[in-house]
Amino acid sequence: MNSPEKYRGRLAPSPTGFLHLGHARTFWVAQERARAHGGELILRNDDLDSTRYKMEFVDAMLEDLRWFGFKWSEGPDIGGSFAPYNQSERMIFYQDALEKLRAGGFIYPCTCSRKDIQAAITAPHPENDEEPIYPGTCRENRKSEIANRKFSWRFRVPDGETISFVDGNFGEQRFIAGNDFGDFVVWRHDGVPAYQLSCAVDDAMMQITEVVRGADLLVSTARQILIYRALGLAAPVFFHCELMRDERGERLAKRHDALSLRALRARGDSAEKLRYAW
Ligand code: GLU
Ligand code: ZN
Repeated sequence: MNSPEKYRGRLAPSPTGFLHLGHARTFWVAQERARAHGGELILRNDDLDSTRYKMEFVDAMLEDLRWFGFKWSEGPDIGGSFAPYNQSERMIFYQDALEKLRAGGFIYPCTCSRKDIQAAITAPHPENDEEPIYPGTCRENRKSEIANRKFSWRFRVPDGETISFVDGNFGEQRFIAGNDFGDFVVWRHDGVPAYQLSCAVDDAMMQITEVVRGADLLVSTARQILIYRALGLAAPVFFHCELMRDERGERLAKRHDALSLRALRARGDSAEKLRYAW
């Protein structure tokens, strides 16, 4: 990390619900790290998932972030040299990346439904990730088998290879492809780029130097490292944050409405007080 390049960090919320205290804490770490490095903080609106995304959440997201004390120097509301900052306006870049992955033989069409995958799985889920390991059913699909059928594109992981990186917070991380995670979707059957692809493409294109995100995404980072490699892109460095848990020890999720920034603010809490409690 002795490189002379300027630090560029990012906040990348998905407008699928109201932001809660858990998001705010991870984002705050991102902002503090950008500040400490004398760098920039970019806001990206990860609004690709139109089935779950609602316009009201985008406005609420911007308002809640400002209220909490976040400041960004590029974003959907203010523009910047790497615009657009709404993922829904960046389809062309994802399509281009998909085409490169396809031409390079890194991906294959998969016609499996969720049910097919469940039925084909013999091994239990790996503990560190929620996604079951894809059993590889479609790896050798022929063109005739996918004709006239809906399919997603899956990344063929290098089975047995250890993907390692040094996390800025947790230190050395090692994940074995095919074991800790399997072939993953980069393009959904409904035509929407998957998070792994859009995120890697944008972090690279927006010249993000460090990605700060929750520890639930450690395995996704290993997947994204494979995407960077396949696309010939340099990967940023990573800093994963401990997840916030509620009083029962459960991960905060968007369903914890009581801990949404909106609710806390309505209750009269100040952002300073909430931060002080950390
Ligand atoms: N939009 C993604 C999310 O909210 C970003 C995750 C990440 O930081 O990579 O889950
Ligand atoms: Zn399949």
